[in-house]
Amino acid sequence: MAKYTPMMEQYLRIKADYQDAFLFFRLGDFYEMFFEDAINAARELEITLTKRDAGQKDPIPMCGVPYHSAANYIKNLIEKGYKVAICEQVEDPKSAKGVVKREVVQLITPGTVMESNMLNERNNNYIASLSHFEDGSYVIVYNDLSTGENRIALISHGWDAVIHELYNQPIKEVVISSNLPEDSQQQLRDRLQVTLSYQNEVNFNAEYRSLCENLNDERLMKAFSRLLNYIQHTQKRSLDHLQQAEIIELDNHLSLDMYSKRNLELTETIMRKGKQGSLLWVLDKTVTAMGSRMLKKWLERPLLVRDHIEERLETVDGFYQGFIERDSVRETLKSVYDLERLAGRISFGNVNARDLIQLKKSLEKIPVLKQTLKQFNHKQIDQLADSLVFPEHIVSLLENSLVDDPPVSIKEGSIIKDGYHEQLDTYRDASKNGKQWIAELEQKEKQETNIKSLKIGYNRVFGYYIEVTKANLHLLPEGRYERKQTLTNAERFITPELKEKEQLILEAEEKSVELEYNLFIEVRDQIKEHIPELQYLADAVSKIDVLQAFATVSEANNYKRPRFVTDKLSIKNGRHPVVEQVMKDGSFVPNDIHLDQDRSILLITGPNMSGKSTYMRQLALTVIMGQIGCFVPCDEAELIIFDQIFTRIGAADDLVSGQSTFMVEMLEAKHALSNATDRSLILLDEIGRGTSTYDGMALAQAIVEYIHHHVHAKTLFSTHYHELTTLEESLPNLKNVHVRAEEFEGNVVFLHQIRDGAADESYGIHVAKLAQLPEPLIARASEILTQLESGNEKTLQPNEQEPQEFQEAQLSFFADEKPSQKKQEIKYVEEKIVQDLRGLNLLEM
Ligand code: ADP
Repeated sequence: MAKYTPMMEQYLRIKADYQDAFLFFRLGDFYEMFFEDAINAARELEITLTKRDAGQKDPIPMCGVPYHSAANYIKNLIEKGYKVAICEQVEDPKSAKGVVKREVVQLITPGTVMESNMLNERNNNYIASLSHFEDGSYVIVYNDLSTGENRIALISHGWDAVIHELYNQPIKEVVISSNLPEDSQQQLRDRLQVTLSYQNEVNFNAEYRSLCENLNDERLMKAFSRLLNYIQHTQKRSLDHLQQAEIIELDNHLSLDMYSKRNLELTETIMRKGKQGSLLWVLDKTVTAMGSRMLKKWLERPLLVRDHIEERLETVDGFYQGFIERDSVRETLKSVYDLERLAGRISFGNVNARDLIQLKKSLEKIPVLKQTLKQFNHKQIDQLADSLVFPEHIVSLLENSLVDDPPVSIKEGSIIKDGYHEQLDTYRDASKNGKQWIAELEQKEKQETNIKSLKIGYNRVFGYYIEVTKANLHLLPEGRYERKQTLTNAERFITPELKEKEQLILEAEEKSVELEYNLFIEVRDQIKEHIPELQYLADAVSKIDVLQAFATVSEANNYKRPRFVTDKLSIKNGRHPVVEQVMKDGSFVPNDIHLDQDRSILLITGPNMSGKSTYMRQLALTVIMGQIGCFVPCDEAELIIFDQIFTRIGAADDLVSGQSTFMVEMLEAKHALSNATDRSLILLDEIGRGTSTYDGMALAQAIVEYIHHHVHAKTLFSTHYHELTTLEESLPNLKNVHVRAEEFEGNVVFLHQIRDGAADESYGIHVAKLAQLPEPLIARASEILTQLESGNEKTLQPNEQEPQEFQEAQLSFFADEKPSQKKQEIKYVEEKIVQDLRGLNLLEM
């Protein structure tokens, strides 16, 4: 068999080390791909697949992208979850003997992108590593390469907790050991939809010593090393900006399992997968991208320790009160650049002079910010001000070295200020003097030859020249200059003196550009030494931003500071923070909620679409807002600090893993029942709906009883099984509440008001009557109801499905009627108001 060409041999050798990546093989001005890579890339990127002779009988598949536009193609592949290995020519083709040497200089993976065109500035880009140990524990390490942040969590209670924890963070890629059991790997792929990468090497590398100093557990160190090894393997360059791993104390945070996080739509909505419509969307009044990222982190991990919560609330209170100063804080923050990502890029070596000027301008705002914060005269805000340490040395270095408006390129000079470096000044003088000399020469020649249009010009090919138009040539004494170039209208000349000066000028310019580049790198490296300071500052600024955002949103939406008490939760006129914003017109109906030891389970009944699930979510969101330190949507709130929130709400079918709605429902219920404590909050919406009526009802009742007897968590349980309302008699801590609906002008109006007691049970049939369902059907329904009430189940059997079908008819009836329903509601409320007004005695007011 014929051999491949030497270049193909080289390609295959390199490709062998990067089997799971697209190998972008640099060939002149293109990155080429071959074989399978070419076929797949042509498909994914919609580019033409061609062929290339590789020394064998048949040509091989090939496709390529131009070097200068490669970034977009790479982005496209990374977003699809692929990896791209960038293979460059690492020697000058001119001086190469044989095939030009090539090496992979970077492996870009979904979790390790640094290129700003691939990063969303308001989101962190996390990569995680997962390590498992013989004692059954797991360690997860998170890293955001763009900011240098590292966090580490030890999980000792099983695989489920690992999945829930990983789901809690927006991760793109998980690094595992190849001996993680295959079914676990499959779960990671299916449930988290991440790219999996393998790194078996967990040996501790001496370079990481300072990063690991605070880890006193071998498991943590191994796990951290796995991730660091992987990052080093992919990036192949300095990672000085990586920070010490912050240990996530899972016990210090409210734990939200993956179902709850998704169901409650904290950072993105289930349907659209976007931020709009999520709690984050309402709360994000941050000014900086760093602040926005921090807010997201806080939302993903609400606090548990009361002092920590109160500290944030107290600061928010300060920002809330001082609204004039808050405006100045917001204004100042607007001109603070993304210090955190900038620090990452400085360490990575991909900042230009403009970025450093941005850095300088941002840092110059720090004293202003500090001063504004002091004006609040508020203890906590004072402390925040003190945490802002102005890095004067960085600012003055940048001020002295860089011009205010440098070009994008760092290789063409015009970056460094005059007076910063003596040698540079000498070069510049030389070039300036030379130019001056040339300007004078031009004047002198003009006068002596009497040619007014004589000029001295410059181009890259011929250097400096004297140009005389053809019309004036006769004025030029023979032999005065040396002819160099003939144009249509003019002749160009040189003189030995001019060439001598040119030599001096060009040499000085060349040297000064080179020196400027070196000086710039020096400045950048000097700043690199201070990256931890910048990161500390970024952290402080982000925190200030988030806390002012809480105050801003609290003022705008009229939120109130919650008080934390033990074992009693009481919210007056609570609102759903997102629905209220979406409705905009102020028509959201506020509701109270009260829970305590004797009233720990609320069984909520009411027709479909009346507002049961809104009421439940509103409680969970209020609790979360309180525990991240924000004010809450209500008139008054006394809250309990919950340790965990569990939810089974809405139809969040787990389509990915192909489980049925009912199975998901049961999994979520199981997860809640086996993990909740008496300090937890459980929300179960219409549980049992996914199976047959009796089955579902039986399960629903058993679940409520189980929570009541064994779990003791505060629980909201909505149901359309009216029969369950009798549980109030047997379960002392369970109370019935219902959503009010009233008949008005022959129609039913939802008032979205929650009241104590069970809903009127013949209510559904009443609605069916109004909908003018056939008379015999209504009669049959009433009959079944009577049978159910008498507990005589036998007579029901022939028509077992009927009650459920009936439920569905009820749902669709309302869905269709919604617009007129809304009008009815408004009309009803108006009439009520008129009635109330009539009832007033003005004279006695
Ligand atoms: P259920 O769970 O009872 O089927 P939802 O909670 O899904 O009902 O609410 C249905 C719709 O009713 C919501 O989309 C919302 O538009 C409206 N709604 C719910 N609660 C309120 C409220 N308190 N004030 C105003 N409108 C509400």
